Amino acid sequence: MRNILLVISGPSGVGKGTLARLLLAEDKGLVGSVSCTTRAPRAGEKDGREYFFITPQEFRDRIAANDFLEYDEHFGNLYGTPRSFVERRLKKASVLLEIDVVGGLNAKRLMPKSAVLVMVAPPSMEELGRRLAGRGSEGKEAFAERMRRVRYELDQAPLYDYTVVNDDLQRAKREIQEIIRKEKEKTI
Ligand code: 5GP
Repeated sequence: MRNILLVISGPSGVGKGTLARLLLAEDKGLVGSVSCTTRAPRAGEKDGREYFFITPQEFRDRIAANDFLEYDEHFGNLYGTPRSFVERRLKKASVLLEIDVVGGLNAKRLMPKSAVLVMVAPPSMEELGRRLAGRGSEGKEAFAERMRRVRYELDQAPLYDYTVVNDDLQRAKREIQEIIRKEKEKTI
């Protein structure tokens, strides 16, 4: 059995964070990676849990030191996956990354033998729009930008290995668990 780098992507509001938490809680052979970001913590977020919240200067220093497996900018903030953590953990377990499509495709390019890309899609755009509006944590501009980003992310789904529709959380979770099981058995 091989260890895989499971990349979970999908537009914000699609429930990929909840799915990732469930997958991690139920599979001891799967560990999560914590990304670094320059954005400010949202209410309830804790440094070192959702993200490592670092300054733009620190982020740039770490880019220069080749510390990120991949990084990308969203809404003016930088997000990156710490390289050493992922490489170290992959020797012992499968690693889950919850990142955007640009990051996911980069991860696949850099680690083609390990990366398995899963896109989580909403049952419909209308439903996702409702969920995002319900968050109410941002202004109209930021909301419109997020919706544009949603379309962009979903348009990349054909480049991913799998697309899982999150119509029902438990069902979607089981579908991803089945993907993990199959992928770990593959000899590459
Ligand atoms: P949020 O600010 O809502 O937590 O995340 C914004 C976007 O950044 C999401 O699409 C999320 O998947 C993405 N993201 C989070 N961590 C990383 C990372 O390490 N690398 C990349 N490329 N994107 C990330």
